[in-house]
Amino acid sequence: MGKYAVLVDVSKCTACRACQVACKQWNENPAEKTYQVGTFQNPPDLSSLTYTLVRFKEQRVNGEMVWTFFKDQCRHCLEPPCKEVADEMVEGAILQDESGAVIFTEKTKNCDFQEIRDACPYDIPRKDPATGVIYKCTFCNDRIANGMIPACVKTCPTGALQFGPRDEILEKARRRLKELKKDYPHARILDEDEVSWIYVLHQPESQFQMSRRERKPSVMYALKSLSKPLGVFAMGAALIGQIVNKGRE
Ligand code: SF4
Ligand code: SF4
Repeated sequence: MGKYAVLVDVSKCTACRACQVACKQWNENPAEKTYQVGTFQNPPDLSSLTYTLVRFKEQRVNGEMVWTFFKDQCRHCLEPPCKEVADEMVEGAILQDESGAVIFTEKTKNCDFQEIRDACPYDIPRKDPATGVIYKCTFCNDRIANGMIPACVKTCPTGALQFGPRDEILEKARRRLKELKKDYPHARILDEDEVSWIYVLHQPESQFQMSRRERKPSVMYALKSLSKPLGVFAMGAALIGQIVNKGRE
């Protein structure tokens, strides 16, 4: 099995949220008690029971109302920082299969949740408060292994989500970017060399409700790399990064 990817063509999302429902159904996750946060975003955030969420942002840009939708979930990083951190704590807590899916196991309950969440450049992992197990999107790896496509992709009625071999999806993303550039000069592809979920944005990133921070080497990873050349430098960079980040919180 080769590596797979999903194209998220944000310009085609209508925020119908069929993907949210399909994800709940396939993973047998119950609905959650929710509340109104002043937008149509519902529930308000990802959780151990909600692996994907369409985030809403309403704002005025040059005097005009701009309303954007952003389907958020694990990007299935090609070299996942969450796994790198977990490997140092509990062997086999986070796995990666040959399709590219990054899979959290029950062993995550023995990991430091905050360390794993902080390592994620997209702020995705969430802990079940009752069991301590950490959850997120599975890439529907059980469906992929049985020749099916992810449940959210299958249900998307507008074609905003497309699944396929990584090289084909990258080609589609670049083609789509070229089309979008004609009307949206700020259009871009996000992190295409780093993730399996490849987003094509038609508007500037600041116009979307999303978390995205710089990837940084974790302290634990840096400590481990002390035994390797440049390890001291890596640890210094990680520590400085963490101090700067804490200062921003
Ligand atoms: S997006 Fe976050 S949780 Fe998903 S693989 Fe990357 S680091 Fe891990
Ligand atoms: S790939 Fe599967 S687990 Fe991930 S968001 Fe889509 S339906 Fe949910």
